[in-house]
Amino acid sequence: MNWLNVDNHHSFSIYNLPYGIFDREGVPTPGVAIGDHIIDLRACASKGLLNDLDFDKSVFNSSVLNPFMATGKSTWKLMRAWLIHSLTNEASLLHKHQDEVLVNRIGTQMYLPVEVGDYTDFYSSIEHATNVGIMFRDPANALMPNWKHIPVGYHGRASSIVITGTDIKRPNGQTLPPNATNPVFGPSKRLDFELEMAFVVGQSNTLGNPISVDEAEDHIFGMMVFNDWSARDIQKWEYVPLGPFLAKNFASTVSPWIVTMEALDPFRCAGPEHDVPVLPYLQTNRDGNFNIALEVDLMPEGGSPSTISKSNYQYMYWNMSQQLAHHTVNGCNARVGDLMASGTISGKDPGSYGSMLELSWSGKNPIPLANGETRTFIEDGDTIIMRARCSNNDFSIGFGDCVGKILPADQL
Ligand code: CA
Repeated sequence: MNWLNVDNHHSFSIYNLPYGIFDREGVPTPGVAIGDHIIDLRACASKGLLNDLDFDKSVFNSSVLNPFMATGKSTWKLMRAWLIHSLTNEASLLHKHQDEVLVNRIGTQMYLPVEVGDYTDFYSSIEHATNVGIMFRDPANALMPNWKHIPVGYHGRASSIVITGTDIKRPNGQTLPPNATNPVFGPSKRLDFELEMAFVVGQSNTLGNPISVDEAEDHIFGMMVFNDWSARDIQKWEYVPLGPFLAKNFASTVSPWIVTMEALDPFRCAGPEHDVPVLPYLQTNRDGNFNIALEVDLMPEGGSPSTISKSNYQYMYWNMSQQLAHHTVNGCNARVGDLMASGTISGKDPGSYGSMLELSWSGKNPIPLANGETRTFIEDGDTIIMRARCSNNDFSIGFGDCVGKILPADQL
């Protein structure tokens, strides 16, 4: 039992203990969420609460988690053990100093928790890749010949990754109207979300030295919900031959807390069966998927939210270990703070599709909302809310909402 009496099925139960950067009197500060509170790690360090732990506590002077993550997995484990012990013992220093180091979580401003050096986006849901292949290319050959051999991905844009709650301006760009030969310029008419999860690299590899599939998880600090906003009309015109560019780089939104791999471990599960054998460097016997229930709500301006998708991270054909092993197999160095997103997470059932492109089947099937309106793509004033949650009979862990509202495009 924890002395804060946080319920085991609270999103931020004692089984979770996710890390984030919160606002304390105007200063971005590293913290851990527990129930409706945040533990101020900088205050814990300065008051000597962490003195028995053998690592450099000045990592908590940073306004991002990169220095703490760089201390490595043994330190991540030390901190988790200390947090659990401190929250379950009334004789702990944390209990004694709670008035100085515990702050209210509800309504507290959060910041981007890591300085993202590089951002890579994979394309690892077989249902999503198949659906997009059918709509954008060839229904008979929806999956490209490489897809079951390579965790396909591309290098994205790190500078436009924003924290939940940040408003997003509808992008302007070039599109090719139906039956036209020349493009036009203006606001995207097919603005979409992509329901994804992203993992954060917490341990680097050096240039020229790949991370093996079996050691990959030692390099992963944790996960966040990730909305990879996408302008489908811009994408369709620009993506051949080198892939997505301005359709994707205007914004991606992350949820506020990084849920650690240790917290996720009880929800480990097998992924979908691979019916095509993979090369040895991608082979692993360990279950590398995680059962994370996902939901997307669309909330019109002034209206109430409607749930328009229910998916699950465990549908991923390629898991994180395979993604990171593939990413580095040529010697590419991943760095602390790098973000690697899953790609849109769709399931088999149409209600589990992870984008409006798929949910409305390229605009052909309008999506009903609770207020009687419908949507094919996102309209100005709409807010997209993504949620992720793991549950078993004994406890739950959540990620905190990943929220973004679409504002009208600039008039040009
Ligand atoms: Ca994506």
